[in-house]
This record gives sequence, C-alpha cells and structure tokens, in this order.
Amino acid sequence: MKPGATERDIEHVVEKLKEAGLEAHISKGKYRTVIGVIGDEELIANLPLTIYPGVEKVMPVLKPYKLVSREFQIEDSFFKIGNSKIGAGYFGLMAGPCSVETIEQTLSTAKFVKECGANFLRGGAYKPRTSPYSFQGLGEEGLKILAQAREETGLPIVTEVMDVRDVELVSHYADVLQIGARNMQNFLLLTEVGRQDKPVMIKRGFSNTVEEWLMAAEYVAKAGNKKIILCERGIRTFETSTRNTLDVSSIPVIKSLSHLPVIADPSHASGRSDLILPLSLASIAAGADGLLIEVHPNPEEALCDGPQSLNFEKFSELVSQIKEILPHFSKTI
Ligand code: PEP
Ligand code: MN
Repeated sequence: MKPGATERDIEHVVEKLKEAGLEAHISKGKYRTVIGVIGDEELIANLPLTIYPGVEKVMPVLKPYKLVSREFQIEDSFFKIGNSKIGAGYFGLMAGPCSVETIEQTLSTAKFVKECGANFLRGGAYKPRTSPYSFQGLGEEGLKILAQAREETGLPIVTEVMDVRDVELVSHYADVLQIGARNMQNFLLLTEVGRQDKPVMIKRGFSNTVEEWLMAAEYVAKAGNKKIILCERGIRTFETSTRNTLDVSSIPVIKSLSHLPVIADPSHASGRSDLILPLSLASIAAGADGLLIEVHPNPEEALCDGPQSLNFEKFSELVSQIKEILPHFSKTI
C-alpha cells in the first residue's frame, strides 16, 4: 500500500480479497503496510488490485515461503514476551536446564541465570529422547515447576511441545512454544502451534536445509501466528568431534531471506561445554538475535545433556563476555 494509505483503503482491499476466497495477511511497517495475499494465482490475477484506492503496487513473491520472507516484510520482526524482548536489536538470552528434574534444580538455575542477565528461562518437561529407556521428562508436573520459576523470577518460559495432543496444555503454562529439531517437519504440529496465541520457536531439523526450515516457519505463519523465532542447533555432517556441526552461516543467510529473529544453540550443536563460549561469540558476530544455553547446578548429575551443560560459574563467565561484545553488534539484552 502507498505510505499514505488509510485504514479504510486497507480494509477495502482485505474485503475484496476475502470475497474472492483469498487469504489476507497484514504487515504494518514503519512507513507502509504490506498485504500478503495467499491463494490461487488465477484468482489473484483476476482482481483489479492496482485500481483499489491506496494500492501502490502488486508484487509476486517468488520464493516458496511468503509470509516469513524479507519481501513480505523488510523490517526485522520484534516480539515482546512478558518483560523480555527479542529481535530488531534486542537480544534473547535463553538459559536453563535441558530437563526440569526437581523444583530445587529448576528454581536455583532460574534465579542464577536471571541474576547473570538471562531474559528467558528454558527447560524441557517433554523430552524427545533417542532411547525410550532414557528419562522422558516430568510432563505437566515439569510445566508447573516452570510456571513457579516464572512467578519467582519474572522470566518468560521456553519449553518444548512434542505432540499435537499436548499443545493446549503446554500453551497454558509456556510463554514460548518450542518445536524440537526432530519435529521440525511435523506439519500438523506446526499448524496447531500456529493457531495458538503464543510465540513459537522452531529449532532447525538436523538434516534440514535453510529453505525447509523457512517452510516450517511458513506453516506456523499461514495458520495465523507470526510470532516465530528460528533456532540454529547444528546439523549432521561427517564430523565426529562435535555432536552436530553448528552451521554459523545459516544465521546471516536467514537474516537475508527472512525478517524473523534467529538465535543459536551452541549447547545442542556441539554437545561439549568447552565449546559454548567460542560458538556463542561466533554466533553473535554472525548476527544472531539470541542464544539458547543449557545450564545445570551440577552437570555431572544431570538426567539429560550433562556434558554440554554449563555450571553456574561457567555461565556467569560466558554472560560477562557476551555483554562485552553485544554493543559492538548494536544489540542489547
Ligand atoms: C532441547 O532444546 O532440549 C532439544 C531437545 O533440542 P533439539 O530439538 O535441538 O535436539
Ligand atoms: Mn538438551
């Protein structure tokens, strides 16, 4: 729409699109509003869109993903989640245990990471474990513990939902719904979280391309939820010295193709606590809008992902270094 287009002009176009059986997705930018039209190309071509008042031009988006593309929205997306912010210069520092194990473990970690400067608490209540014999998470009891941690620290909660049947329950407790790497192409689950009024964080599948990852985000956006955070968590390569290979290049690639915030998870990417610092700094330099870091009061005793978890002291050292370099990349926590 033209920079001076009125609300009435926008409503008129939306009405016409809906009458023709097309979907209208509105993105209000600083200078102009873009109306994303989804539907049959022929139906779109049959509408005299350019003569409607306020319309500046009609532009096809050639990429397979539409709503999450930079073409649809030039400015970086930004979300306020509780008292925290992420995207467009705001850095999301998500930290916490791999799994919620006990109330003491979760509360002590939440309080410590908050004190250091983290602005989100992460923790799994439903765990996607390779072995059915490994600890599977505490389920709803874990969600309740996370909610108590939020109450005591004010930190918004990031937690995974693995199954369509749990979406409503997890949404009741969580502030950010995490889609795990193994579920990145679970299209029914993506559509279901797309119907929720909660931001969604999509982890990159470890065998998925950037384009497939953006298509996963498109599922969520198409279902109506535009609050999406992408998380690079490493991909499978021939290299065996790390658990996965952090694809640092995906960060600037995503930033050029999409307006969505992208964060890095060096914990799952490397599987090694000694690599968290260098990989965090590299991700920030590459343009990451945040980090997801696993922290445990006693990594040796962790029920899940101990070898990659930082203890309190190491996390505190990491945050001081992060805080030092963030201003050089025009980011603030
Ligand atoms: C996690 O964040 O706890 C997790 C299981 O990550 P991923 O889905 O990336 O393996
Ligand atoms: Mn983990």
